[in-house]
Amino acid sequence: MNNTKPNILIIYTGGTIGMIEDEATGTLRPFNFDHLIENVPKINKLGYDISHIQFDEPIDSSDMDPECWKQIAKCISDSYAAYDGFVVLHGTDTMAYTASALSFMLGNLHKPVIITGSQLPIGEVRTDGEENLITALQIAAARDAATGEPMIQEVAILFENYLWRGNRSTKMSADNFNAFKSNNYPPLANIGLGIHFNNEALWRTPSNRPLDLHLELDPSVVIIDLFPGITQSTLHHLLNTPGAKGIILKTYGAGNAPTNDWFYQEMSDAIKRGLVVLNITQCANGGVNNRYYAGDRLARAGVISGYDMTGEAAVTKMMHLFGMGLSNKDVSKYLCCSLIGEITV
Ligand code: ASP
Repeated sequence: MNNTKPNILIIYTGGTIGMIEDEATGTLRPFNFDHLIENVPKINKLGYDISHIQFDEPIDSSDMDPECWKQIAKCISDSYAAYDGFVVLHGTDTMAYTASALSFMLGNLHKPVIITGSQLPIGEVRTDGEENLITALQIAAARDAATGEPMIQEVAILFENYLWRGNRSTKMSADNFNAFKSNNYPPLANIGLGIHFNNEALWRTPSNRPLDLHLELDPSVVIIDLFPGITQSTLHHLLNTPGAKGIILKTYGAGNAPTNDWFYQEMSDAIKRGLVVLNITQCANGGVNNRYYAGDRLARAGVISGYDMTGEAAVTKMMHLFGMGLSNKDVSKYLCCSLIGEITV
């Protein structure tokens, strides 16, 4: 059992939580960590040892990219041994992408990486940022009473009443304080008067191997979101995007696409040219199951099923697998199996 004070590292990347209003324009812009922490004096009452690192220039998460993900992953890896847990403060707009990317980049993670932010800046009277930050710190510090092990041993998003698996999460609302949801996976914890962990849902890496950092990401991926009326020339152009290695095809319902011959031909030609094509559903809930002829035909053209993976997990998983320099055969193999709980097969 570990009785020492929890030692937590906060990594501040930017986002609404730390923003202040620009007096000249009235718009919100990222501000420094000191401003953020001055507004949450209650943090001291937790009695934790808290350190922080700030991105050189805090950003609106619309500017998040694979280089920033590398910076965050490297920062966690460099200080992995020194801390019990990590809290990443991040804008909500691309938080689910970052959570997904980090889940693939931080292999064999045994410590909590809790990502949070807020819908209202921390300086505002009705801010949700204060509560989110404090709860994220408590979750990062939480230990199993019996084993002394960290309760959370994965990348997760804490927002308002829920803790979600990072690579299962999606931003659902631009307005509500409960802004995130995992449509295909239960919450890892419910936050009310207390923090109630859902033990059955928690990820456990099956060995004691050390953290395995994967910094290389290859962004040569394209998303094609189907809509009734998509023309052959549009599809042809997207499938022939220069430099593309992988396509994420967002299909209707249980994985269905137009059944006409040109669509099938474009898909099978793309796969023969060496593209990896992954099928995920446009629906918020459920996944691809090839129950219909319209979906089965895609599978017969060589399109791989992404089952119930989110778009955010699909994009970042492809970047990760191509970044590892794997063959198309291996990328395809790993895309349709669970690496870190991102998919229900
Ligand atoms: N645009 C902001 C960001 O993602 C929104 C937020 O933080 O909620 O950085």
